[in-house]
Amino acid sequence: MVPVQQPGLDVVLREPIGVCALIVPWNFPLLIATWKVAPALACGNPIVLKPASLTPLTALMLGEVLVEAGVPKGAVSVLVGPGRVLGNELVADPRVSKIGFTGETATGASILKASADNITRCSLELGGKSASIVFADADLERCVAETPMAVFANAGQDCCARSRILVERSVYADYVDAFTRATEAVQIGDPLLETTEMGPMISEAQRQTSLDYLEVGAGEGARRTTGGEVGGGEPGTGAGWYLSPAVLADVDNSMRVAREEIFGPVACVIPFDDEAEAIQIANDNDYGLSGSVWTGDVGRAIRVAKGIRTGVLAVNSHSSVRTETPFGGYKRSGLGRELGMNAMDHYTEVKNVYFSSESPA
Ligand code: NDP
Repeated sequence: MVPVQQPGLDVVLREPIGVCALIVPWNFPLLIATWKVAPALACGNPIVLKPASLTPLTALMLGEVLVEAGVPKGAVSVLVGPGRVLGNELVADPRVSKIGFTGETATGASILKASADNITRCSLELGGKSASIVFADADLERCVAETPMAVFANAGQDCCARSRILVERSVYADYVDAFTRATEAVQIGDPLLETTEMGPMISEAQRQTSLDYLEVGAGEGARRTTGGEVGGGEPGTGAGWYLSPAVLADVDNSMRVAREEIFGPVACVIPFDDEAEAIQIANDNDYGLSGSVWTGDVGRAIRVAKGIRTGVLAVNSHSSVRTETPFGGYKRSGLGRELGMNAMDHYTEVKNVYFSSESPA
């Protein structure tokens, strides 16, 4: 209810938005599907879930579980097929009221254009090239210990990967050495083993992209301190597109390896001289999804956190996603915020109703 000047009562209603087409990628196929499916259904909308062609099975199972749990059959559809055909059809269909998309920035841009004709509501979670800023006054031991998984978890196929590590110059050389050793200690192997920290990549093509970027980085003058070797899975664990995690040091932020999303296990380490330069480098990128600030100085943490144009930021932590808090990106990392109460904005229309209390004349 909203207090208004006119006599009467004003209420704001949230109503279901209509059919939601939820298009998700392969890197966290079940997790990202649930971020969209749960709030869409909870807000009263029927959904059409379109998983990535490389990872359809968990989406199909999720559909079965939902029907088993009592969601009316017509309210949930899972459509499997190539995005360029099926996805296009879904996006252009006038019966679709809302598109919730996670995937590459280029695909998101084409979806946004296609949604314009019908003014279809559209939220986009796209790529990233996030920075972790490490100041000399930070707890460097903890930072080094936690950083490999901030880049190499899911074999680096993570939109929130802190793939640019910005380190204050006074501790830069020591940091590169320690981070290289920590990276070499990452346990690579069968993802089903509890001891494994990093498994294989999704496909040969995805691994080849990372290998190509390692070549590009070498050509640009980056110094590879470790990693980039094909193979590396535990013997006897079966085939997989393994690539050992790679550290590129002495990277300049103008290099392609620092500017483009590699989406593989490749970390770029970049030196900086002061706070202002750290903020400038972190922001000098088309993306703005995630990031970290490591410092022992609270005032600096506040200044840097306010200065960085990114949707999700952690101080003295690499945490990105909590279901209770908003998630999404600035700039070319997306449009809108998922999770937390922000999900309500994605999956409802807002209707304002004014009830006059004036008596009939
Ligand atoms: P894509 O954009 O290639 O595909 C994502 C989904 O869109 C898939 O289901 C795909 O189907 C479908 N699709 C492809 N083309 C179209 C189209 N023209 N119209 C409609 N749908 C289409 O991304 P990837 O699967 O390669 O995922 C990796 C990307 O996702 C990375 O850039 C990563 O950063 C980003 N991402 C972002 C996250 C975030 O929250 N910001 C989280 C996780 C990943 P098909 O598989 O059949 O081609």
